[in-house]
Amino acid sequence: MAHLDVVPVDEDAPWRHPAWGAEIHDGAIWGRGTLDDKGQLVAIAEAVERLLERGFVPAQDVWLSFGSTEEVSGETAGLAVDALRERGVAPWFVLDEGGAVAAQAFPGIDPPLGVVGVTEKGVTNLELRVDGRGGHASTPTRGDAVARLARAISRLDRSPMPSSVPAPTLELFRRIAPHAPAALRPLMANARRLQPILSRALVAAGPEAAAMTRTTLAVTTLSASPAVNVIASTARAGVNARVMVGDTVDAVVDHVRRTIKDDGVSVSVLEAGEATPVSPHDDDAFRLIESAIEAVFPEAVPTPYVMMAATDSRFFTAICDRVYRFAPFRMTKAQREAIHSYDEHLGVEDFLDGITFYERLLEDLR
Ligand SMILES: [Zn+2]
Repeated sequence: MAHLDVVPVDEDAPWRHPAWGAEIHDGAIWGRGTLDDKGQLVAIAEAVERLLERGFVPAQDVWLSFGSTEEVSGETAGLAVDALRERGVAPWFVLDEGGAVAAQAFPGIDPPLGVVGVTEKGVTNLELRVDGRGGHASTPTRGDAVARLARAISRLDRSPMPSSVPAPTLELFRRIAPHAPAALRPLMANARRLQPILSRALVAAGPEAAAMTRTTLAVTTLSASPAVNVIASTARAGVNARVMVGDTVDAVVDHVRRTIKDDGVSVSVLEAGEATPVSPHDDDAFRLIESAIEAVFPEAVPTPYVMMAATDSRFFTAICDRVYRFAPFRMTKAQREAIHSYDEHLGVEDFLDGITFYERLLEDLR
């Protein structure tokens, strides 16, 4: 899998080379989509064409699914799933974008990590709403709609959802432990047993690490009175929740209601997205991907992980138990930060190695 669409380019962003130029400078291809996700798309197509040229016949059927709405709704990936279902196709495994051969993935860990997403958080949107009398701003009352909404928001802000370390993250720590600084090695190697300590340490390590351990809630949109001299009769807040594997949308709504503790604040689900099921990281399909990583990127440590962002592949969990998210490209921290931002670029050698990865994967199918 890959996707054809890209996010827009901010014309004011200081791109070093034209965002739509695909120019080659300093051994890299520069432009929007080189990493997300046209690079992967072209690498897959190139690998397949090379194999076809050689008359190679894979040991299993291979389906290519390229979405065109990944950055918005993912609708076309859903349609691809419908088409496969109609044809009675139940994939053995699915491989989409997601992880990468990531350098500087963890502070203190030297080798790059070949991170393969085995699950992704669900995206759920809630609305908090308070209705009141409204009226003239010259005669306000205490506890109007806006004040109650504000109290609800500040309660939510003070009460994050409980944290824990999910199984794929424990496995990640187990695998990188041998490469960790000596002081951290025992904690990582015994992550399973020391799970509560580890989850507290991650929460303390900052917002990115904390997001690895729990469902996050972000209050994003706010609306109330249309005019500064009018007291709002309705106040609304949008809450974007990223649902962690192990949590459910129901549990999130429960947490929000219990935390707000105010019947005057209604909580409704605008869009429900559950975390995807966890794909196995200890069977043949994962090992196949792992061995292709080891062959093409011998410097990297392959490992499962929990993806924070959403991909088209979430639709395929309806017809497949083994859904993996990995782009076979080396990416530095700066390159990962350039995704959806500016200066997105893919090394030429890294692109070529990505093609080799897909060739290898298709050749090794049994
Ligand atoms: Zn993408």
